This record gives sequence, C-alpha cells and structure tokens, in this order.
Amino acid sequence: MRLLLVEDETRIADFISRGLSEHGYAVDVATDGNEALDWAAVADYDIIVLDVMLPGLAGTEVSRTLRNRGVRTPILMLTARDAIEDRVKGLDSGADDYLVKPFAFAELLARLRALLRREPALTGNVLEVAGLKFDAATMEVSRDGVAIDLTAKEGRLLEYLMRHQNQVLTRTMIAEHVWNYDFDNATNVIDVHIRNLRRKIDDRFTDKLIQTVRGAGYRIASPT
Ligand code: CA
Repeated sequence: MRLLLVEDETRIADFISRGLSEHGYAVDVATDGNEALDWAAVADYDIIVLDVMLPGLAGTEVSRTLRNRGVRTPILMLTARDAIEDRVKGLDSGADDYLVKPFAFAELLARLRALLRREPALTGNVLEVAGLKFDAATMEVSRDGVAIDLTAKEGRLLEYLMRHQNQVLTRTMIAEHVWNYDFDNATNVIDVHIRNLRRKIDDRFTDKLIQTVRGAGYRIASPT
C-alpha cells in the first residue's frame, strides 16, 4: 500500500511515516499543498493522509483540487481542532474521513484499513486465496491453518497481490504500490521479495499460488 502523507510539521511527519513504514506501508511525504498536488500527479497512491492546516494551500484546497482533477484516491484528513466546522469543510472538499490530532497510532492504522476496505468486493480485513489467508488488521498470514511468518514488507506485497488476485501485476505496478519514491527500479528487489514469499507460502505445497507470467509480471490465483 503506497501512501502520500501531507504534513508540514517535520516532527509529526517523521513520527507518522516511520510508524507506517514499520507496518509495511510505502510512504512519500509532502510538506505543503503544492508539493502534494505534484506528487499526486505523478504517482498512483492507494491512500492520501492530508493535514488540514498547511502553509499556503490549505488541506481542503488540496482535496478539492484533487477531486476536480478526477483523483478518486481515498483521503484521510488530519485536523488539529475538534471543530465541527473544520470537519464539515474537510468532508465537503472531498475527504472520505478525518482524524483529530493528537490521535493514537492504532486509530490511524484502523482508519486506513477502513478506507482501503471501501474498494468494491472487500467486506472485511481478511483476504483469501485458496487456503491462504491474510488478515490486514493483524498482518497474520496462514495457509491451510498453519501460521506463516512474514516481514512487514513481504506482508504488504502479499496484500497487494491478494487484493488484485487473478490479475497480472507488472513489476512497475508492484513497485508503485508497495515501495515509495526512493525505490530503485533497476534493482531486482521485487524478484527477491517474490522469491522469499514463494519460499514461505508455496514451497511446502503442491499447489503454487504465486504465478510468474512470462514477460509480464506476477499473479496470485487459485490453482486451476
Ligand atoms: Ca500542519
């Protein structure tokens, strides 16, 4: 899951982006509204966390501009004041949800999960392919009831594959949604992560769920 965090206060931005990275999210940070619009124009984010109080262009302006441009990415607005007017303005500008600062990190994670659930066909936190289960809330993975230990990054890679099961995902798509801007596309990091995932998920089983689509990319699907 790739996320754009728009926050001008460095201390808060560092705290949030470090915490989200520990949970396997790929995070880019913009420190003002115009930078946020630039980022959103070049990358396809899964979610945008947008502070309402920004220097220059306010969060509500950023949100309204993105919606006018046709960007439908879920937006979680961060507001410092627990004022009804602020929240109403945020939601009216196109934000999907808001969180009042200061907030507990666990609540931020829960709100992000809730927004990601709004994609069609996703009703809960548990994704499933054949006997493989991924719980997006706890990051717990199991296959045929046996727990599998993944790193946070492997977990997010698996989550991305499973949210788009049966679809071929190119390395570029994977890079854009699982890694952030600092990712070096020339490296074979994705292949290495896929190999590690396969070792943990498929090696002990006859039916292989992660498939290589020659010349295209990877796909996770039930064995046919
Ligand atoms: Ca701010």
